[in-house]
Amino acid sequence: MQSHVKFEGVHKLFGAETAVEDLNLTVEAGEFLVLVGPSGCGKTTTLRMLAGLERPSYGRILIGEKLVNNVPPRFRDVAMVFQSYALYPHMNVYDNLAFGMRARGAARNLVDERVKETAEVLGLGQLLKRRPSELSGGQRQRVALGRALIRQPQVFLMDEPLSNLDAGLRVQMRAELSRLHDRFRVTTMYVTHDQVEAMTMGDRIAVMNQGRLQQVDVPETLYDSPANHFVAGFIGSPRMNFVRGQITTLDGKRAVRFLGVKAPLSTSSRLTSDVSDGAVTVGIRPEDLMWRPAAGPDSVVTLDAEVDVVEPMGHEAYVTALCAGETVTSRFPPRSGVRTRERVELALNPARLHLFDTQSGDSILQRPAATSAEALRSMREAWIEGSSAASNREHRAPGVPAQSEEKLIDGR
Ligand code: ATP
Repeated sequence: MQSHVKFEGVHKLFGAETAVEDLNLTVEAGEFLVLVGPSGCGKTTTLRMLAGLERPSYGRILIGEKLVNNVPPRFRDVAMVFQSYALYPHMNVYDNLAFGMRARGAARNLVDERVKETAEVLGLGQLLKRRPSELSGGQRQRVALGRALIRQPQVFLMDEPLSNLDAGLRVQMRAELSRLHDRFRVTTMYVTHDQVEAMTMGDRIAVMNQGRLQQVDVPETLYDSPANHFVAGFIGSPRMNFVRGQITTLDGKRAVRFLGVKAPLSTSSRLTSDVSDGAVTVGIRPEDLMWRPAAGPDSVVTLDAEVDVVEPMGHEAYVTALCAGETVTSRFPPRSGVRTRERVELALNPARLHLFDTQSGDSILQRPAATSAEALRSMREAWIEGSSAASNREHRAPGVPAQSEEKLIDGR
């Protein structure tokens, strides 16, 4: 059965420190929600509160319609997978998978049926007699997933489950987790600090910073219309450029001055708040700042820049350049031939600019939806291409930690 999850006004204090502040968030039934943010922003604390391993200082947590603030972990019907695989080293794969069901007194033939079914789904059918030390890192992580999956929980909680794997295996497991989710549609909350994982796996993404939820939406919207400076800088690679700007006029229309040029604000965009002294932070995604010869007809604003660093990536190059005293990064075609110290012309389409309040960091420009959906798609493809090259590399199995996730989740 699928259940939604709700955090209502949840705070978590550790002494004087606030780890999570006024969290209001719903994970819809059957949804894969990724909670992403930098180290220490409160992701794990949020997940642990949902698992019942931490108690909220204030607020309510509901699974389905049930208030679970005071429900012990073992009665919450959630299963958690951690970054460490937490397998029993002395048991083979079969017994590791069967452990939880046996501990709950399930009938022998039911255990056998579920273990075999789960092993089949995860491609572990041939490995049931092996011990964890005889498995690769990816196989161990699959067993850990199997231990959670076999319980058929209402909610899956995953805390950086792929971060112990090498880059290639991570890409492979990312796809496997997405496939598993498509098949079983268990409500899932997945914690990571990796924005690529978030963008490629989440039905929706919740971005946290310093204990506060910044924005929650589908990946495309987070990318196209970040709510603030933080989200804009966190989602997207290379990172969005931020430069100083000034609201002004051009031919009687609203415009913004930045990097030594004036650009009209698109008529389909609108400023959502007034800035008293006109000072703004202008955000430009690297793919929106193009090499003039490669730019399209909409890129009507031209900037002079001096190339500082060229980073060839194979299918494209990242070029960092100095422009009107600021440093900006742009994405060039692979064989542009530009070199350090060379003067180049960059071009941009003013409709792709982002504007942020310099004080609050809030986005103050509402842009037409989906202007960058194309860019996002190409970026996803680039990520997948880039990572799959690494997936052929050999991987080495890391060690098996002693503690079991069953123990943690059940508080036993
Ligand atoms: P990471 O990605 O590094 O795991 P995170 O986003 O998961 O970080 P949390 O582990 O939730 O962050 O921690 C949020 C804040 O709460 C941090 O400042 C952390 O130091 C603090 N914190 C977490 N657990 C405790 C605890 N048991 N006692 C005191 N402070 C804690």
